Order: sequence, then C-alpha cells, then structure tokens
Amino acid sequence: MKDCVFCQIIRGEKESQCVYEDETLMAFKDAHPQAPVHVLLVPKKHIRSLNDVEEDDRSLISELILRAREIAAAAGIAASGYKLILNVEQGGGQYVFHLHMHLLGGWKEGGHLRIKDLIP
Ligand code: AMP
Ligand code: ZN
Repeated sequence: MKDCVFCQIIRGEKESQCVYEDETLMAFKDAHPQAPVHVLLVPKKHIRSLNDVEEDDRSLISELILRAREIAAAAGIAASGYKLILNVEQGGGQYVFHLHMHLLGGWKEGGHLRIKDLIP
C-alpha cells in the first residue's frame, strides 16, 4: 500500500527504531510512546485491521503475540508485566489502518492503567 505509513516503514522508505524483524513481521518503537516501553508489532502483509484477517492469516496472530512475549523478555519487562493492545477500527481507537499490536510496559509499580480506566 503506497500511502500506508507502516508499509513505508516496512519498505525502508520511512525511518523507524526497529527492535525486531523477520520475513513475516517487524517491531519498532512507537513514535509517541505511552509507556516506558512501547513497541508496535506489525505484520509485513498489509491487512487493514483484525476484522480483515483471513483464514490463511490465523498463524500471524499467534506469531504477533508470541513475538511480543519475546520482545518483552528482551526488554526486561517479562516479570514486571506488560499489556498487549490491538485497537480495531475507529471505535476501538485505531488510527493507523495497518494491523498492529501495541506492547506496553515498564511502569513503576502501580503506574500502569487498569482496563477499567481505558473504558470511556
Ligand atoms: P493506533 O491508535 O492503534 O492506530 O496506533 C497507531 C500508533 O502508531 C500510535 O501509537 C502512533 O504513535 C504510532 N505511529 C504513527 N506513526 C508512526 C511512525 N512513523 N513510527 C512509529 N510509530 C508511529
Ligand atoms: Zn500497510
């Protein structure tokens, strides 16, 4: 997708702080971090949102989650804990319409948001 910002990052046309890359996905630091550790995990295939994941893409979702677990461990936040957030479409807070998962963590004890705090 020509105008998709995450496709541009994946193609190397736009700068990012990459923390992991393989043939299926790329992980890079969020440009506007909302936590001490804030990484986006992005499949290389352009998929608009979770709603558009097809049968053949099912393994991609487990790949994203398990890779996030590894990145969390490498960032030293596995034991302290982290959140994985997948915003789906506008009502779910999605602004970039290329499927991605947020990995957030590294807060001091008690500094994190609880799920009830996220509900409007
Ligand atoms: P979402 O609201 O789930 O669509 O989140 C999109 C995220 O992408 C936001 O947290 C943005 O800060 C982040 N973002 C947008 N453009 C870039 C970029 N060029 N590099 C890194 N992160 C970005
Ligand atoms: Zn894209």
